[in-house]
Amino acid sequence: MYKKYILLLFTCANIVLIIWFWYSSSGDLLSGDNVQLLLGLGRLMGLFAAFFVLFQVMCIARIPWMEKLLSFDRLTYLHHLNGLWLLISLILHPIFLGLSYASTNDISFWQQQYNFLFYGDELVGAFFGLFILVCVAVISISKIRRMMSYEMWYTVHLTVYIAIALAFGHEIELGGDFVGNNIFQAYWYILYVGVFGNLLAYRFIKPVYMWNKHHFVVDHVESENDNVYSLYIRGKNLDSFKVQSGQFAIFRFLDKKRWWKAHPFSFSSAVVDGVLRVTFKDLGDFTHELGTVSSGTSIIIDGPHGNFVTARSTRDTVVCIAGGIGITPVRALIESFDKHKQVILVYSVKSKKDFVFKDEIEKITQERFLKIYYLVSDDTSWEGLKGRVDEQFLNMYIKNIDKADVYMCGPIAMMKGVRASLKKCGASNNHIFFEKFSL
Ligand SMILES: Cc1cc2nc3c(=O)[nH]c(=O)nc-3n(C[C@H](O)[C@H](O)[C@H](O)COP(=O)(O)OP(=O)(O)OC[C@H]3O[C@@H](n4cnc5c(N)ncnc54)[C@H](O)[C@@H]3O)c2cc1C
Repeated sequence: MYKKYILLLFTCANIVLIIWFWYSSSGDLLSGDNVQLLLGLGRLMGLFAAFFVLFQVMCIARIPWMEKLLSFDRLTYLHHLNGLWLLISLILHPIFLGLSYASTNDISFWQQQYNFLFYGDELVGAFFGLFILVCVAVISISKIRRMMSYEMWYTVHLTVYIAIALAFGHEIELGGDFVGNNIFQAYWYILYVGVFGNLLAYRFIKPVYMWNKHHFVVDHVESENDNVYSLYIRGKNLDSFKVQSGQFAIFRFLDKKRWWKAHPFSFSSAVVDGVLRVTFKDLGDFTHELGTVSSGTSIIIDGPHGNFVTARSTRDTVVCIAGGIGITPVRALIESFDKHKQVILVYSVKSKKDFVFKDEIEKITQERFLKIYYLVSDDTSWEGLKGRVDEQFLNMYIKNIDKADVYMCGPIAMMKGVRASLKKCGASNNHIFFEKFSL
């Protein structure tokens, strides 16, 4: 529970150190006139912008020690949040410096920006880097992001690395706080090497190493219903590939059509007879074609990731709520909780033909305590429980939800609604665990 504060402490310690380095060289500017004040603040914004960029990279580098401190989805959330701080400091950096230098040189703000641009190679690179970072930040605003395909958005996002490389030169060469301060320079290099070392190790080298070690390949694909398929994966030494029920991984299928795309899917069962299974719904370009992937196709698996796991449960009753394809991690979870726990599954879909794994779920009831509620919202031919998982449903069927751990996975809108209902019924935030199918 206190793990997240370790990361907060680590981040704050770095920020304090940066402010301290900045204050020791630019602190005098604070007691000067407005021109000097702007110069000092402009430098500070530049340092913050560089630090926030590095923090952005750390959040998405899929670093196991960070995922242990804060779960994958929280790191993704932090990545979005930090993007805002980054954007603000990025924009303020050239504005403050421009205003300060323009006043000193007695020219207009825009004339000063023009002069900056042609000052030397480092500043041209920095401006270009700034342009890229601002563009990426803008296309990441959720409304704009939804207007483009994920692949397009992701490809543009990758240019951030070019921006970081372009901006680095001007930080050390021209940054007023670095001049003559070897310790600060050394610290700055360590930050960059640390961040990009972790990125390289965990996002690139580790998946390739795991691929080489386990030789993951597609075994076969099975249809679960009209638009849901299960993909079975074989590999070598899978005993040492430790997956916890409820986790997911990012899959790259190495055939002509797909090698350049990586998509996340949850494992839909524990490893059985040396075979891994993921189950996906045909929702778009990639998943529409994935059912046709050939047996024997090699797969690079980046993972497992995620903290939607049984280990978080501390109570004797566990309520698992799955909406639609959100059943995939939940299916794996329900068979894995300690046998002494009472597990209640609420499985909600739009139409009865959307149910998958019904036979498997029924089979689990023979092996452990598992109470199941199947719920259908938009199908008049369904004769069982109708409606959605709302306050009325929870009050009527799930007793003592305030004493249970709740796991849920489903469409974002459904999870928002269910979460609100759970809280009204007394469930505590610390005992609601969820997996979002979006990064
Ligand atoms: C942690 C996690 C676990 C998931 N587990 C499952 C699962 O078990 N079964 C399942 O059917 N789906 C799962 N998904 C969702 C699945 O990744 C997307 O449905 C799939 O990538 C859609 O790709 P598409 O090109 O077919 O559809 P599109 O129409 O292109 O995309 C639909 C939406 O999926 C997301 N998406 C698309 N491509 C990617 C990508 N490469 N990486 C991340 N998100 C992407 C975007 O938000 C997009 O708006 C999971 C997602 C996450 C984040």
